[in-house]
Amino acid sequence: MLCSLRILLIFIEHLLHKECKLYEVIPSTPEQITLLELLEDECEVDVWNNSRKSKEPLDVMVPAVFQNEFEKKLTNLQLCYRIIVPDVQAIVNEEKYKNDKAPSIIEGKISFEKYYRYAEIQEYLTYLSVEYPKLAYLTHYGVSYENRNLSAIHITTGGDEPKPIIFIDAGIHAREWIAPAQALYILHELIENKNNKHMIEKVDWVIVPLANPDGYEYSHKTDRFWRKTRSKVGRSCKGVDPNRNFDFHWREHGASKKLQSPTYCGPCPFSEPETRSLSNLIKSYRTQIKLYISIHSCKQSILYPFGFTRTLPYNGDELHRLAKLVEEAIYKVNGNHYRIGNSPGSSGSSRDWAYGAVGIPLSYTLELPGGGTRGFDLPPDEILGVVKEIFAGIKMFFNYVQLKYCY
Ligand SMILES: [Zn+2]
Repeated sequence: MLCSLRILLIFIEHLLHKECKLYEVIPSTPEQITLLELLEDECEVDVWNNSRKSKEPLDVMVPAVFQNEFEKKLTNLQLCYRIIVPDVQAIVNEEKYKNDKAPSIIEGKISFEKYYRYAEIQEYLTYLSVEYPKLAYLTHYGVSYENRNLSAIHITTGGDEPKPIIFIDAGIHAREWIAPAQALYILHELIENKNNKHMIEKVDWVIVPLANPDGYEYSHKTDRFWRKTRSKVGRSCKGVDPNRNFDFHWREHGASKKLQSPTYCGPCPFSEPETRSLSNLIKSYRTQIKLYISIHSCKQSILYPFGFTRTLPYNGDELHRLAKLVEEAIYKVNGNHYRIGNSPGSSGSSRDWAYGAVGIPLSYTLELPGGGTRGFDLPPDEILGVVKEIFAGIKMFFNYVQLKYCY
């Protein structure tokens, strides 16, 4: 009885985020990181930017019921912390107010000052395919658990020979709203901006702007911090972390076996229709894809394989060099630095599967900046600044692929 009351309390706290606080915790040794990971499972706390590197601050959201216990444990572990947001719900409310006020997409006119909903995104994808039939076609590569379309846009100028493909997924993690916004900006720039015509002449693009539509809608309607899919797991839990559900070193490191955890890896690899369908789409282009990019937030990083080990892959030097070029291109826009490196502690991601199981030679996670003390994602009026600077990095990625793979 006590146990089910505790679960109910957690559920209510998670839904409302009322009295949730955001802590900044700075682990100074690898041992402290391991202890923090244990705490994540034990206390049901939610780590927003789990970098898993010592001396890098982590933002940890803690419901009211666990705050005392959490603070006590941090003190015992000699971990430094401070409260950076005393009332998370207030930030959520403010973000919602600003987002609702911003204009919708009308007749294909998209602005990047709003986090759009699933229906608006679908409408824009349809608009692009109808308005630019010689450049873009829309495919629905599957349906989600709740029967929403899983959609991709293929950008191609045709030709007799198959061209190298740059494949981009975004929105695998529901709450990372800036990721679909970035994917829409890339689509907009490639298809609607004639100055970027050269970027689609010799290279094709396949872009999935919203890989987890059920979770995304749930994060808009009910729980701002929902990360997973919405499938039923166990008797009373919902959702699998789709970016821990891909069949490559599945469940090895940084993925939880607990059903209620935000990083629950699922009962088996590809248990989710969203990941299964995405993997089939990727496989259908397997010989053409030369670069894979998975867009996330909020670590402000450019990350390459692997997530299950610290050992670098065979072309680790090349992956690092290219990440550095991309980082420099992004830095030139607004002077913002992005961390680069591999990302141990995240096995079962789409990036690692694309690289390790499919054999795509260049594969990255682009982690966009978060709102930090102003919330999970940036306020809507700051979207444009981020998507523009990241597009400079996308241009650099494109230059590299064209130079290496186009003859
Ligand atoms: Zn993510």
